[in-house]
Amino acid sequence: MQTIRGRLTAWYASAVALTLAAFAGILYLERRSASYQELDQRVRTEADQTSGILSEIYGSGGLLLQRSATGGMELIPQVAATLEPVPGFLIITAADSTGVLFVSADVRAAGFPVLQQLQELARTDTANRSVRTARLAPDGPTIRYVVRPAAGGPRFGAVLAAADVGPTELGVQEFLTPIALVFPFSLLVAWLLGSWIARRALEPVDQIITEVEEISDGRSLHRRLAQPMVRDEFGRLAETLNDMMGRLERSFVALRRFTADASHELKTPLTVLRAGVERAVTTPNLPQETLVVLEETLQEVNRMTELVDALLTLARADEGRAPLARETVDLRGLVHEVQETGELLAEPGEVRIEVEVPAEPVMLAVDRTRMRQLVLNLLTNAVKYTPAGGRVRITLAQEAHRVTLVVSDSGIGIAPGDLPHIFDRFYRADIARTRTGERAGAGLGLAICRWIAEAHGGTIEVQSRPGRGTTFTVTLPRDAT
Ligand code: ADP
Repeated sequence: MQTIRGRLTAWYASAVALTLAAFAGILYLERRSASYQELDQRVRTEADQTSGILSEIYGSGGLLLQRSATGGMELIPQVAATLEPVPGFLIITAADSTGVLFVSADVRAAGFPVLQQLQELARTDTANRSVRTARLAPDGPTIRYVVRPAAGGPRFGAVLAAADVGPTELGVQEFLTPIALVFPFSLLVAWLLGSWIARRALEPVDQIITEVEEISDGRSLHRRLAQPMVRDEFGRLAETLNDMMGRLERSFVALRRFTADASHELKTPLTVLRAGVERAVTTPNLPQETLVVLEETLQEVNRMTELVDALLTLARADEGRAPLARETVDLRGLVHEVQETGELLAEPGEVRIEVEVPAEPVMLAVDRTRMRQLVLNLLTNAVKYTPAGGRVRITLAQEAHRVTLVVSDSGIGIAPGDLPHIFDRFYRADIARTRTGERAGAGLGLAICRWIAEAHGGTIEVQSRPGRGTTFTVTLPRDAT
């Protein structure tokens, strides 16, 4: 149950199942108790009426008994015939408790052991007026019975009326059958209904998730969630998220503004500093040591200027204040230009640079300076991370709808763990830092490359295997021009 919707549905269905089961249970117990009361009432009436008949005849001086064929006493046939249709077990015992004066058909059918047992019950339970339960042995039915004094004169003992509970139990159980049939069906309906209700109730959450996902990247922070008219929990959630995004947006804007302002403010002093150091270097008769220090300072100042330029570029791009000055150029010329710069860089490291461009012009409307910066960044990196004797290749190719520029090298490569982060700002793979310590950059080059590619509507991708080399592929669409 990964989703709240699934859990809600399961809870709902379980609640319905429990309610149904409790309802069925209560109904069953009620029904059972009612059936038993009915049965008890029947045996009581039978016993009372039998006793009543006997008392009436005895009271009016009528004859009740005759001698039986076996020599004992028994009810006269006229009275026995009135009692015969009574359903269930009915016996009338004699006063001496040893003989029986009447036995109903059911008792006769059940046999002598049953008769004996009933006689015993009639003898022992005379004082008890309530209906009781007994099990007829062996393996006989369970009965409810009642014993009453037989008011037919001094020769009479007791009347015992009893009924088998089997049919009653069966009736109550049969009543459960339709409930058992309806149960799975109700559960299915509850499940479907629960799922529907949960989906309806959670729809706004899905909507909020989709919208927040769209906004989650830093550049869409100005967008807001649609706020529902009703101020229910979801309405308040959307409102809270909107407030939070408002605050985030303000901090982002402040941060970008700060970076842009700081970089901008640093530019002028750096230019002054560079001019000063450059002038100082040219001073005649400088001691060798001072010259070395000045040259090192100049290198650092240059590095800082590059860093500040990169920061300013990114800060302006973030603020949307870095428009592209597009002009249609032949990218082959641009690649050749960069190649020349690259060769100067590659010379000391003995890295070979190969260029492969189509025979026909590759015309595309791009911001020339930015595009040059992109290719140069990739080439500089390739040279920087390729050991002596290696090679770097720039391949330019065009198709109907796009132009691809591939910069590949046979260098040290990038560890798989670093690959997803190399386009992040200030990210530098450790391996590079240790091997090329003094050539280290600031980790902003690739972030700028990605921005330039994306600003042109294109993409930049990387493939690399440590020790085998790295390939950067820039894809630029044609139709966006
Ligand atoms: P840096 O100024 O450090 O070169 P980048 O943003 O240009 O910063 O590159 C980020 C990181 O990506 C580098 O520190 C380096 O680890 C890795 N990297 C970039 N290009 C290559 C390459 N051609 N071969 C190996 N590693 C590279």
